[in-house]
Amino acid sequence: MGVLTLETPLASIHGIAPRYLAALKRLKIATVRDLLYHFPSRYEDYSRVYRIAELEPGQDATIQGDIYEVNGRKTWGRTHYLTETIITDGENSIRAVWWNQPYLKNTLRPGVRINISGKVSENDNGEIYFSNPAYELLTTHYSPHDPTHTARIVPVYPETHGLTSKGIRYILRPILENTSAEDILSEELLEQEGFPSLGSALHAIHFPDKLSEAEVAKRRFAFEDLFLLELINARERARLAKERAPVIPLAEKRRKELMGALPFTLTETQTKALDDILADIARPHPMNRLLQGDVGSGKTVVAAIAARAAAETEYQTAFMAPTEILARQHYTTLKGFFADFEGGIGLLTGSGARIFLGDGLERNAKKEEMRSMLKHGEIAIVIGTHALIAQNVAFPRLALVVVDEQHRFGVSQRAALAREGMTPHFLSMSATPIPRTFALTLFGNLAVSQITELPKGRKEITTKVVAPADRLKAYAFIKEFVKRGRQVFVVCPRITNEHELDANTTNDIREIRARIREYSLLEMKNVTEEYEKLSEKVFPDLRVTMLHGKLKAKEKIEIMDRFAKGAIDILVSTAVIEVGVDVPNATIMVVESAERFGLAQLYQFRGRVGRGTHQSFFFLFTGSPSEATKKRLEAVTRAKNGFELAEEDLKLRGPGEFLGTIQTGMPDVAMKALQHPALIPKARTAAEALTGKDPALSRYPALKNRLEAFARTVHFE
Ligand code: ADP
Ligand code: MG
Repeated sequence: MGVLTLETPLASIHGIAPRYLAALKRLKIATVRDLLYHFPSRYEDYSRVYRIAELEPGQDATIQGDIYEVNGRKTWGRTHYLTETIITDGENSIRAVWWNQPYLKNTLRPGVRINISGKVSENDNGEIYFSNPAYELLTTHYSPHDPTHTARIVPVYPETHGLTSKGIRYILRPILENTSAEDILSEELLEQEGFPSLGSALHAIHFPDKLSEAEVAKRRFAFEDLFLLELINARERARLAKERAPVIPLAEKRRKELMGALPFTLTETQTKALDDILADIARPHPMNRLLQGDVGSGKTVVAAIAARAAAETEYQTAFMAPTEILARQHYTTLKGFFADFEGGIGLLTGSGARIFLGDGLERNAKKEEMRSMLKHGEIAIVIGTHALIAQNVAFPRLALVVVDEQHRFGVSQRAALAREGMTPHFLSMSATPIPRTFALTLFGNLAVSQITELPKGRKEITTKVVAPADRLKAYAFIKEFVKRGRQVFVVCPRITNEHELDANTTNDIREIRARIREYSLLEMKNVTEEYEKLSEKVFPDLRVTMLHGKLKAKEKIEIMDRFAKGAIDILVSTAVIEVGVDVPNATIMVVESAERFGLAQLYQFRGRVGRGTHQSFFFLFTGSPSEATKKRLEAVTRAKNGFELAEEDLKLRGPGEFLGTIQTGMPDVAMKALQHPALIPKARTAAEALTGKDPALSRYPALKNRLEAFARTVHFE
């Protein structure tokens, strides 16, 4: 086989059958690296070798012995082929049978030493035997002490049609033994963190002698990914620090005036966030900041003041929302804050344009006209969906980009907005309650400001976990409140934005996604069904409407408008729709199958009610009788803010489940690596140190190559 490197294409290795190459390709495996980094999803421990006399029915066990006798025959009306062997360990003998593998008759020869690993079965006569066990002849060039498929901790891989775990082991083992892999982690770093070298880690993750060895190797590989992610972050930070951006100063006096003109006083953390932002944009380098705050915590006003500051320096701001509905809402909000502002506030969406020029001067406009006004600097603040940028609108004076609920706004998108060597400042706003450590890695090139309290005077929202027995009572309660003029949201789980299960996705995330999908399919309360039930059976005399992702944008807007106007009593919708919609008269929210959601997500839903003066209610319907579920759901009632809850959720469920339910839009490799949160600060420190020492990585060619390939696969944008 010769010495292989991680870059060697599998197709160039002699002895891998074309059909295997094709199957590997389906798993996105084309090189030695791809194969060796195709890690087991789990292990089966067959390491203890039993004497036949010790075997118990039902047990998973390994025996070692000599083949005494082999028989092959057709059976079951000649449609099946049975290979039957008798194996003896010198003291006792046992039968092992295989179905429909007639070629075994030629491999399993009497007198040959064999390992058998599998479940011990028992027939009606109380006789024990093995049925279709894994086997390994001890004539291969691996020593009997170092088998591949039996008598060891056996790796089980993500498989594909035509390639089983056994096949993968069979192909992988010799390649593993013959690869000389250059480590991207320095010896110094390995020693410091107590990680095994790449060679021994690869061996340990595929063929561990002890499970603890595999665990250590897993940690090392998680570190590797985190280190690469943090290197990308560190380099991006260093690059941004060198770029130039428009300077937006705001005099203290003017700032006070603007704040004084607001209909309310900013909260402490709103003020702090605003300070952070104003300080950033007053500097000649691009701001790159994430503003986190629960729904209703008042992020918009903070961004609005920054936009106003830009406008007063004759600069433009592009304000982007995830949906047209939210864009329109932001437009209305900004117009309200700055009723006297004559610098031009524009709304530009797929369905049209609207212009506000101060003091009640407002009109519809053609999109063309809006573009022209933007080009000539006649609109200072433009609000639209994320498409705003893609539409190739010219902003000669663009200095600030505000993005609401989109994390993936990336480097190249921002670069596309750069003008004459100036990169605009960038503010990303998010209500996704991602714990701080995670945020720092996922959005590691961003500085973070958090709004951690809600504006004063908000009423407590009465939150109740409702068991099935109390459902009718809850419905009666809802009816009563609707009679008094209030409105209701009913949220149902739906199949979340599942990515296609992709062979390249890492094992754990695949499993999580599969589980989520299973949940979704099996037990999901489908919006349509719920709508039919509520509109026809439970509340036939109320105005019930449904809203889901399959509707056209225009229909959605129409429905939301009607809801906002009070023309709909009960709105049944999916979970991911229009989070953040502001309808103060909607005072009740019901979540169906609440146990399907993460705590932080539930908390986020709750932010949709309690926005007006009336007492609001948040009902978590659950069919689960489990006390633990009830307890978990009740944590929502105690939390001070979403971040706190996210941390709690993370502790309760572990990173895997937790990350499975939040939509970060982040690459799986990042999500997977985050399952080792303790490694994050270590990876960050190491990445920063290295970037400081050797920014071009000229002394680390292997790392440099790997980083380039890695950056391409993680698709940060
Ligand atoms: P977010 O975008 O963070 O979910 P918004 O910016 O939409 O929240 O604010 C929610 C509501 O609270 C808006 O009606 C806003 O005008 C109002 N608001 C914001 N800050 C304050 C404050 N400090 N005091 C009172 N009301 C506020
Ligand atoms: Mg908002």
